[in-house]
Amino acid sequence: MKALLLREYKNLELLDLPQPAPAAGEILVQVAACGICGSDVHGYDGSSGRRIPPIVMGHEAAGLVAATGPGVTRFKTGDRVTFDSTVYCGECPYCLRGEMNLCDRRQVIGVSCGEYRRAGAFAEYVTVPERICYALPDSMSFAEAAMLEPVSVALHAVKVSQIRGGETALVIGAGMIGLLTLQAARAAGSSRVLIADVDLTRLRLAESLGATETMLLSGDDLAREVVHRTGSGVDVALEAVGRNQTIQAAIHSVRKGGTVTLIGNIEPQITIPLQVVVSRQLRLQGTAASCGEYPQAIDLISRGEIQVRPLITAVAPLEDGARWFERLYAHEPNLMKIVLAPHPRLVA
Ligand SMILES: [Zn+2]
Ligand SMILES: [Zn+2]
Repeated sequence: MKALLLREYKNLELLDLPQPAPAAGEILVQVAACGICGSDVHGYDGSSGRRIPPIVMGHEAAGLVAATGPGVTRFKTGDRVTFDSTVYCGECPYCLRGEMNLCDRRQVIGVSCGEYRRAGAFAEYVTVPERICYALPDSMSFAEAAMLEPVSVALHAVKVSQIRGGETALVIGAGMIGLLTLQAARAAGSSRVLIADVDLTRLRLAESLGATETMLLSGDDLAREVVHRTGSGVDVALEAVGRNQTIQAAIHSVRKGGTVTLIGNIEPQITIPLQVVVSRQLRLQGTAASCGEYPQAIDLISRGEIQVRPLITAVAPLEDGARWFERLYAHEPNLMKIVLAPHPRLVA
C-alpha cells in the first residue's frame, strides 16, 4: 500500500509499505480522508519528540471498513467509519471510571514517542481497535468526518469547563481548535462568546462561525478590553494557544470565581500570577484530547450547529502530502485544515 512515511525529521516520502492485517478485535480501514493536525507539523521537525522516525503519522481520519479481525461484531466490510485518535485499554482504573483519555496505557494513532510506535492514517490502510470506531451517517462526507477528531477535542474542552448555558466565554486563539471551541461553546449554550487573535482573517472567519465579538488584541491590552466590555470579566476563558502571554491574558480576563481552561500547550513552562488565581478563586482546568464526544460531534456537524467546511482549506491526494507539510511548516498564511485523501475517488 502507499503510505506517507516520516523517514527522518522534515523528510516525508511516499513509499510502498506492507498492508497491515487486522488482529483480533481490530478493523482494517481503507482511509478516505486524514487531516493534517498541528501536532503532526510540530512532530515533523522533531520539536515535540512525539513523531520519532520512521513513522506514518495521521490521526484525524475516516474511511471504509476493508476487513475485520476475529471477534469484531459491531462493524462489517463496507461500513463508513471514523475512529478516536486515542487507543485506550478499556481495563485500567481510568478506563473503568470512563476517563478513557487518561488511560494508563494510552496510545495515539500515528504517534511514536519512545514508549510506543503506532502507525497512522496517512496511508491507504490503517488498523485500529473496534472499540475506538464510530459509524458515520451517509450524509457526512469523509472530508467532514476527518474533522470529527478536532471537533471532539473542542467539545471536551467545553465540557470540562462546565459550560451549561448563559455564560459569557472568551476564546483566545482563532486557529483550528479555537474556532471549533468557539462553536462548541455556542452549541453548549454560551450566550456571548468573544474571541481574540492577532490575525484579522481568522477573526473574520470567527465572526462568520458565530462569535458575538472579535478582538484584534493580545496580552494586557486584551485583558483590559475584555474586562471593560464585560464589566467584571468573562465566566470562562478558553485558552487555545498555550504561550505564557496568552495564558496570562486569559487569567486576567475572567471574573472572580471564573474558570480558565488550558487547551494549548506550546510552551512547556509558564509563569502564573499566583495571587490573582488564589485571591480571586479562579479555577485552572486542563483538558486532554476527548472522552466519548464523537457521537455528539457527529450530531452537531450533521445538524449544522458546528460548521467544519469553512475550515477545510484543501483536500489533496496523498502524493501531495509532503508539499503540504512544507507549506504548513513554513506558516504560509491563510492555511487552515489540509485533508489528505489516499483514495481520492472516495472523497470526490
Ligand atoms: Zn490532532
Ligand atoms: Zn486504560
